Amino acid sequence: MTFCSKCGNEEPSEKTFCSQCGTRLVENRLGPTSIQKRRSNWWYLLAILFTPIGGIIAYFVIKNDDPSKAKNCLWIGMILFAIGFIVGVGSG
Ligand SMILES: [Zn+2]
Repeated sequence: MTFCSKCGNEEPSEKTFCSQCGTRLVENRLGPTSIQKRRSNWWYLLAILFTPIGGIIAYFVIKNDDPSKAKNCLWIGMILFAIGFIVGVGSG
């Protein structure tokens, strides 16, 4: 099932154009606006191994291609750094 982005009309997925307004129907997962370059999960590892710098580097490198993964890397770097800091203070 596909929804027309213009008028909201529901169409069977095999239809290419909306029968109500003629707008081209594009499934969200195949739409050109939703295509992002997939970035390797190795960036997570960078963020984990080199906190917080690795997370910051990963964020700036992949933020244009994969904003959500970039944010995750930044958060991983920051959170692990914070945990390491707290553990370090606690044990010291
Ligand atoms: Zn329509």
